[in-house]
Amino acid sequence: MLSKKKTLEMLDVIDEMFPDAECELNHRNPFDLTIAVLLSAQCTDATVNRVTRSLFEKYHTPADYLSVSVEELMEDIRSIGLYRNKAKNIQALCRLLIDEYDGKVPEEHSELVKLPGVGRKTANVVVSVAFGVPALAVDTHVERVSKRLGICRWKDNVTEVETTLCRIVPEERWTQTHHQLIFFGRYHCTAKNPKCNVCPLLDDCREGQKRKKVIVDAE
Ligand code: SF4
Repeated sequence: MLSKKKTLEMLDVIDEMFPDAECELNHRNPFDLTIAVLLSAQCTDATVNRVTRSLFEKYHTPADYLSVSVEELMEDIRSIGLYRNKAKNIQALCRLLIDEYDGKVPEEHSELVKLPGVGRKTANVVVSVAFGVPALAVDTHVERVSKRLGICRWKDNVTEVETTLCRIVPEERWTQTHHQLIFFGRYHCTAKNPKCNVCPLLDDCREGQKRKKVIVDAE
């Protein structure tokens, strides 16, 4: 695995590549953001934004989402993967927000993870983006990039990846690093066909070196 020094050097390069990385899920407030992140599981942000454009026009509060049948809500989010479960979770979440939290999204991570459909990653995104609390959510991009670069072990689960990153990265950089690793994974070190040939991290990247060797050996 990479040393702390080398890891921070790599993150500095990524910082220079994507200085303005930020949350790409459209939202107006913490409640919208929670709904958007819940919808984004196994789905791209672009697809979620297409759906929430009309969804957020129709529904503004937890009570709004409970004023329709679950079938109607399913229809509203039908183009999103796992829409049946997500619609059920949204209504269960709204019910709990009204019953336990005065209709508002709680700011504490420990409370957020009690909400239906809200796991550790979603709670990290909500506390950091909506409430400004440093957090380093590990999504598919953050996990893939961290493993390709050798910051983490291939066999690490997402919680282990998060623990390693949080140990190495200063707390004040957690949120920005989260966004920058997502941008790096979404636009440069993509799942298929990463841009290794123009990557400034190629010399130190174990995945990039492996791919380079395969190409050289084939020539
Ligand atoms: Fe990703 Fe390739 Fe760059 Fe490594 S060298 S970080 S695999 S794009």
